[in-house]
Amino acid sequence: MSVVVSTTGADRWRYGHPWIYRSDVAKEPGDAPGIVPVSDRRGRFLGQALYSPKSEIRLRLLTRDPAPITANWWRDRIAVLDPAGIVLRNDAAVRRHEGLPLEVVTVAGAVPDTVEVEEDGVRYLAAPLSGQKTGAFLDQRENRALIGAAGRAGGRALDLFTYHGSFALHLARRAGEVIAVDSSSDALARGAENAGLNGLTNIVWREANAFDLLRDFERRGEQFDTVVLDPPAFAKTKTSVPRALAGYKEINLRAMRLLAPGGLLLTCSCSFHVHREPFVKMLANAAADSGRRLQLLSLRGAGRDHPEVVTIPETGYLKGALLRAAGGAAVD
Ligand code: SAH
Repeated sequence: MSVVVSTTGADRWRYGHPWIYRSDVAKEPGDAPGIVPVSDRRGRFLGQALYSPKSEIRLRLLTRDPAPITANWWRDRIAVLDPAGIVLRNDAAVRRHEGLPLEVVTVAGAVPDTVEVEEDGVRYLAAPLSGQKTGAFLDQRENRALIGAAGRAGGRALDLFTYHGSFALHLARRAGEVIAVDSSSDALARGAENAGLNGLTNIVWREANAFDLLRDFERRGEQFDTVVLDPPAFAKTKTSVPRALAGYKEINLRAMRLLAPGGLLLTCSCSFHVHREPFVKMLANAAADSGRRLQLLSLRGAGRDHPEVVTIPETGYLKGALLRAAGGAAVD
């Protein structure tokens, strides 16, 4: 039986967005999840979708083709990728909203606990079964290469929210000293292991709350030639955006104050709900309150293998900015 959607729902697919929300579904067949044909109110076929009866996102477009979706249909799509193994990382908390169990299952081939990755000459271990996201934050790959090459040779660098140290490793190749900070001792232990893989001995691993440490460093007048801020998503929902922006402003403002004259700040937000414009505005507010003059060298996003589809704003979740501190005060 077909799911019928409103004109607004049909328009979303026409526009190029694959999701249709609960409020735009006019008639649903029942409460069994699965693949369903979807039509508009006049009975015109629109496509086939994954139907999730418990989710706000009721329909996810699979194809506009009416031909049945078979096992081969799925196989063709995955075989492009030529995977050595497939693990279903179905452990994202958001699955609870869909009434789906949280689980990690290897469904094809072999997936080892750790995989060694080489990224622009830096080696590190990713944990595909237990690490966050794919086991490594691959969306930041190009930003790590950028800041790794840009920092002052022999300078001092600070990597906040370092996780397994991937920014720190890139920074350490040029910097004299890198301080890598995370609140998780397990994450730091993996970071130290990664440093060993690369023979890097100039990274200090510090377990701390980044908010507290920034305040501490400011009080002590510490200075850095490069600072990286890559926190977890502070806004998980739309309603938490104002609080999230206050949090982003706090860490950015303090990081700006730690910059040596000419120092670089690479600052990121992976909260989808904090859009690019408010993010840049937040940076302006932080800069104004920091008393420093900051130049915007470039706006950043995820790497090219995480392309942003312009009609699907959710794909543009990662935003970043590369800023440079001028020598003196904001107004000379
Ligand atoms: N920069 C990393 C990814 C960061 S993920 C990379 O490129 O791979 C976010 C990290 O922030 C996690 O490791 C988490 O443990 C840490 N974290 C969360 N809240 C924190 C806080 N208040 N202070 C310090 N670290 C924190």
